[in-house]
Amino acid sequence: MPRVDADLKLDFKDVLLRPKRSSLKSRSEVDLMRTFTFRNSKQTYTGIPIIVANMDTVGTFEMAVVMAKHAMFTAIHKHYSLEEWKLFAASHPECLEAGNVVTGEMVEELILSGADIIKVGIGPGSVCTTRVKTGVGYPQLSAVIECADSAHGLKGHIISDGGCSCPGDVAKAFGAGADFVMLGGMFAGHDQCAGEIMEKNGKKVKLFYGMSSDTAMRKYAGGVAEYRASEGRTVEVPYRGDVELTILDILGGLRSTCTYVGAAKLKELSRRTTFIRVTQQHSQVFS
Ligand code: 5GP
Repeated sequence: MPRVDADLKLDFKDVLLRPKRSSLKSRSEVDLMRTFTFRNSKQTYTGIPIIVANMDTVGTFEMAVVMAKHAMFTAIHKHYSLEEWKLFAASHPECLEAGNVVTGEMVEELILSGADIIKVGIGPGSVCTTRVKTGVGYPQLSAVIECADSAHGLKGHIISDGGCSCPGDVAKAFGAGADFVMLGGMFAGHDQCAGEIMEKNGKKVKLFYGMSSDTAMRKYAGGVAEYRASEGRTVEVPYRGDVELTILDILGGLRSTCTYVGAAKLKELSRRTTFIRVTQQHSQVFS
């Protein structure tokens, strides 16, 4: 007989972070840099642990150049040619990342099999249709809380992958215990993204699509194979100019979160986090 797990599972939208006593006088006092030594490879990483998703629209060389200036990195998509890679001359990370999973037992299995960082998230992505096409998924906040607990018990690390729609969600992912947060949609529509700027109904837009969408599969695999369904959407997102402002907005929001909960460093954020369940995140009066 199938089992029904009736435990409460939450998404970013279901919670807010409770403010706490803070001795921080300014957001500029907050240190967002983290240093990790990975369990299996023993590689060390230092930076602001926000990663641009390896989607061909956002995970571009152009994006990587700007992100690197802010000590963040970009998971470059896999569709560049060897020649293009040589030109870009990247410095390859050697730590081993695996995923995507959403349960503690899978995290433990992957770490014990040699992975350093586990990517957590099935179905939360902005252009993902997995939950609709397959019925499979797990609310992302709960997935991150549960997977971080399992990973940290083994001195492993996790990436919260997908489902962040605003800087507050990024803060919640870190608060839930994510070591890294991967973002796709939040970086879409910028100059550094692949694709042309188009004009639609007098507005400038850019194309953004899932890597399992029929757009991506047509582009790289000659179409959707007969045995599978596309699990991604294609959307037009407003053109947003240089990604620099978006980066500053995300980092500014994160620093502000840290001051509200009294965390002088990003490292302290999850220890200072108490989530409160809410039915509404913000006022809808002008929406
Ligand atoms: P976002 O930040 O846009 O909410 O989520 C980005 C993540 O969505 C990516 O890192 C990747 O894990 C996931 N993703 C990207 N394309 C697809 C797709 O076509 N289908 C599914 N199921 N997930 C996708």
